[in-house]
Amino acid sequence: MTIDEESYFGNLAELVEHYSNDADGLCTKLIMPLQKKGSSFSSVVSAQDFQTGGWSILPKDLFVGELIGKGEFGDVYKGRYKDHQVAIKQLKDKNSAQTFLKEASVMTSVRHPNLVQLIGVVIADTIQLVTEFMGKGNLVEYLRSRGRSVITKKDQINFSIKALVHRDLAARNILVNEENTAKVSDFGLAKYGDHSLESGKFPIKWTAPEALRESKFTNKSDMWSFGILLWEVYSFGRVPYPRIPLADVVMHVERGYRMEAPEGCPKKIYNIMLKAWELDPKNRPTFKEVLEMLKEEGATTV
Ligand code: ADP
Ligand code: MG
Repeated sequence: MTIDEESYFGNLAELVEHYSNDADGLCTKLIMPLQKKGSSFSSVVSAQDFQTGGWSILPKDLFVGELIGKGEFGDVYKGRYKDHQVAIKQLKDKNSAQTFLKEASVMTSVRHPNLVQLIGVVIADTIQLVTEFMGKGNLVEYLRSRGRSVITKKDQINFSIKALVHRDLAARNILVNEENTAKVSDFGLAKYGDHSLESGKFPIKWTAPEALRESKFTNKSDMWSFGILLWEVYSFGRVPYPRIPLADVVMHVERGYRMEAPEGCPKKIYNIMLKAWELDPKNRPTFKEVLEMLKEEGATTV
């Protein structure tokens, strides 16, 4: 893609990034995106949008290898695109094409070292979403399979800090690459729109009581979920509230029940969890405060 036929870019995101940093001949740097007309996520995503954005991949350029995971909308395969190892998510149910493409469309507009990078989209007989490959898979499985013998206290703090900064609030939505960098894979948007409380797919154990009761989603309800994520990290990937049936969790929590500290969890970390799980959202700490506490703990952990 090019504006002036002097500088060329592989896709629209690279072009936008370039002209956001430097006007490079335009009358101004790019400062703020123009709001899309209508609600951007309810509008229809068309195959054409990906083509014009420079994101389409031809099936012949893509090698599909072994199955590595199962997602909500499709199976995930390891593969190769040109010289890159990639992950390929293959849409299984044609009826979900819009939801699937919306997630891809969100991914085209963001670029960050801790977000899994979209590489492109195949739109042919099937729809495939091609992203960078994250060699160690998702954080829950990583924690479970490596356990205490491999994962150090320092790793635990680092995963927690990264998850916090990016507000990714369940370990299953974080992928880890060979260099141990944790990245957010799940753009959430596709999900929560369709995940009503009744759908049975809602992450009840991760959601704050007031968010469950009155759909009050705020930074403070995110803080509650972050407390659960911390518990996942320090319990090496256990499912929260291990012995309580899902249907009873909310009742117990509202009556004051809280999970115990995971075995070997530092006291300061458990205190963060307890503060994050204050029933009154006002009494929960801010993300900024928790980041400071984690950094402090990280500085004294070897
Ligand atoms: P969904 O969000 O539709 O449920 P995910 O994107 O979470 O699906 O993918 C399901 C699983 O596939 C993940 O938990 C992970 O194990 C694996 N996976 C997904 N994307 C990648 C990737 N880029 N690299 C490596 N493994 C991946
Ligand atoms: Mg997921």
